[in-house]
Amino acid sequence: MNRFTTDSVIAVIGAGTMGAGIAQVAANAGHPVLLFDAAEGAAKRGIDNTAKGLAKLVERGKMSQTDVDALLSRLTPVDALTDLAPASLVIEAIVERLEIKQQVFSQLEEICDASTVIATNTSSISVTAIGSTLKRPQNLVGMHFFNPAPIMKLVEVISGLDTDPGIASDIYALSHRWGKQPVLAKSTPGFIVNRVARPFYAEGLRAYQEGGADIATIDTLMRECGGFRMGPFELMDLIGHDVNYAVTCSVFEAFYNDQRFLPSLIQKELVDAGHLGRKTGRGFYNYSSDAEKPAAVTADAAPAPLSITVEGSLGVAEPLIPMFEAAGIRITRIDNDEVEGMISVGDATLMLTNGQFATLRASETLRPDLINFDLALDYTSAPRIALAPADQASPEALQSAIGLFQAIGKSVTVIDDIPGMVVMRTVCMLANEGFDAVNQQVCDEQAVDIAMKGGGNYPCGPIEWVNKLELSYALDVLDNLMDAYGEDRYRASPLLLRKVAGGA
Ligand code: NAD
Repeated sequence: MNRFTTDSVIAVIGAGTMGAGIAQVAANAGHPVLLFDAAEGAAKRGIDNTAKGLAKLVERGKMSQTDVDALLSRLTPVDALTDLAPASLVIEAIVERLEIKQQVFSQLEEICDASTVIATNTSSISVTAIGSTLKRPQNLVGMHFFNPAPIMKLVEVISGLDTDPGIASDIYALSHRWGKQPVLAKSTPGFIVNRVARPFYAEGLRAYQEGGADIATIDTLMRECGGFRMGPFELMDLIGHDVNYAVTCSVFEAFYNDQRFLPSLIQKELVDAGHLGRKTGRGFYNYSSDAEKPAAVTADAAPAPLSITVEGSLGVAEPLIPMFEAAGIRITRIDNDEVEGMISVGDATLMLTNGQFATLRASETLRPDLINFDLALDYTSAPRIALAPADQASPEALQSAIGLFQAIGKSVTVIDDIPGMVVMRTVCMLANEGFDAVNQQVCDEQAVDIAMKGGGNYPCGPIEWVNKLELSYALDVLDNLMDAYGEDRYRASPLLLRKVAGGA
């Protein structure tokens, strides 16, 4: 039986961005909620802001006035920490400083019952470290909500070394009852989301740094081909470079400078310059009212080909074939399990990027007119496709390839020849990080996918995505990235190696 019922009193400490939202979530689920903040009047202000937000929901017909009144009647601002004595669960959302959190929790241990569970909403501090100064570290658990707490589904339930597993499982069930999608994870740097998401930014930054494409083009490819809501540069500008860079640095340091998490000098420059993103009016993009947002590079119209030859299987890109057919292009198919799938159009050979430079692949396959194309979440609905021609490829071959994709209504973006292009390298690295987290017993595979969809708004869980791609393909991409860069950063997770070897 769960130790929490709807009658259990929930206390929230800190009535800022997160605390006020968390209090609303608990009150919405029917609990009496006590809200405390050290700043005078802040708890009351937090509730007033919640009331304003709820009034908008009533205006839009999303909530009834009766439900809003009932919810608000369950929220009580209190003036002193000692007023939190009746709470069965205290959720802390105060300043992100270890000593201050420890101090507040030690005081709570004196005020509340020995059975009271204390949860921290920390996004970066070790739950184990917070618990180290407590008398009852077994009662401490991480309950990591995402901003805005009433809307974002994910709650990472984090166990420190001393957390009672029964408490973690009751908090998991409680989060479910509150309409959230919880995942269980061990206290490790970045937990799940802030760890697995690092390559989303890092691979975009690398692609840009190497001149693969400009920021607007990379963002557009991640949205239109990858299906992500925002591209990495747009998202970093929104989060703020100070915050995003600090998280990257803290994960990098916490993993003893593992090159996987190496911060980017390009981002550091922005932080140094004070160009922190939207909040300062300038980051990667310029947000002044007269600034125009740059557009993605898009190829001019090229003639549609009459026919193509498809040899071998195109794997995840197979859905393109019926689209070519529907566009009136004659297709000759050659069954051949011995070769990597390819489309021949005019002089060009098109292949799904495998993490190699197109230039190297062209020289190895003796096909000088080789052009890599990038991964898409869904080739049928993606409005755009990215191509990266080998240095040896002729302009005519590139025109044939452009014309082929334009014939099925795609915008075509030609990028420079970088290994793994944009979407493919990012997705494989996200999944690889997910596999590493699983391999290191942080969480299970399902939790990685739930966390990245619920906390990162990803269109597909990264592990689910590379399973569709085929794990052996993702492993090849990573191995080829490793060969191209010679950097430990791209080493494949042992779990991925093992799964591929086991025939997964
Ligand atoms: P915030 O600055 O908006 O709010 C913090 C509130 O805590 C303030 O009202 C402050 O007066 C109060 N406070 C500070 N010290 C206190 C103390 N000793 N006792 C009582 N109240 C105190 O901060 P936030 O963004 O809501 O973040 C709170 C916590 O949640 C941090 O640990 C942060 O890492 C974590 N978090 C933040 C986000 C986010 O996107 N903002 C997301 C997930 C987790």
